[in-house]
Amino acid sequence: MILLDRGQCRVKFLTQRFDTRAILLVILACHEAGITVTLPKPQTSGAKSEGRFGKQDFVYLTKEDAYRCPAGERLPYRYTNQEDGKMLRRYWTTACQTCPLKSECTTGPERRITRWEHEHLLEAVQRRLDANPQAMRQRRETVEHPFGTMKARMGATHFLTKTLPKVAAEMALSVLAYNLTRVMNIVGIKPLMAAIVA
Ligand code: SF4
Repeated sequence: MILLDRGQCRVKFLTQRFDTRAILLVILACHEAGITVTLPKPQTSGAKSEGRFGKQDFVYLTKEDAYRCPAGERLPYRYTNQEDGKMLRRYWTTACQTCPLKSECTTGPERRITRWEHEHLLEAVQRRLDANPQAMRQRRETVEHPFGTMKARMGATHFLTKTLPKVAAEMALSVLAYNLTRVMNIVGIKPLMAAIVA
């Protein structure tokens, strides 16, 4: 099982333009490797931050393969297309034109909802988090400490190198040094040396 936040996905996929695709790929790769992921469901719509209904305000109706919108309208499946390597299913209703909530929902002719072909994986990661709301706090308490220690050792300011490959190497060396000191502190130097020799 792994517990991630969106920032960790951003680091992992630093070489790519950061978007939700990075998070989706992490979740899919983990699922295919049999690893359980717990993560806040990625927000794929900017509508919420712009003050309109977000995708989370739409309820997916599994049996009908449709969404129910905040006005209670049903958004049936329309078509699937490929975008950025992902198969995306599109849903919308023709009721938007006369909807009293339209200004809170969309600036276009109708509100369209997009569903990734593996969207059920995203819903599962959010369900796991809902079932264990303390998970993100535990992750912070466990994971942030090593980063804080490494930053302190590095001077808590900046990397000494430039360009992504060099910074990645510098970061890898910092992590290696941190892990070695942790092992030395936990098991001792002699058992560590014996394990390395073996
Ligand atoms: S604008 Fe369309 S999708 Fe949005 S609440 Fe109204 S009917 Fe539903």
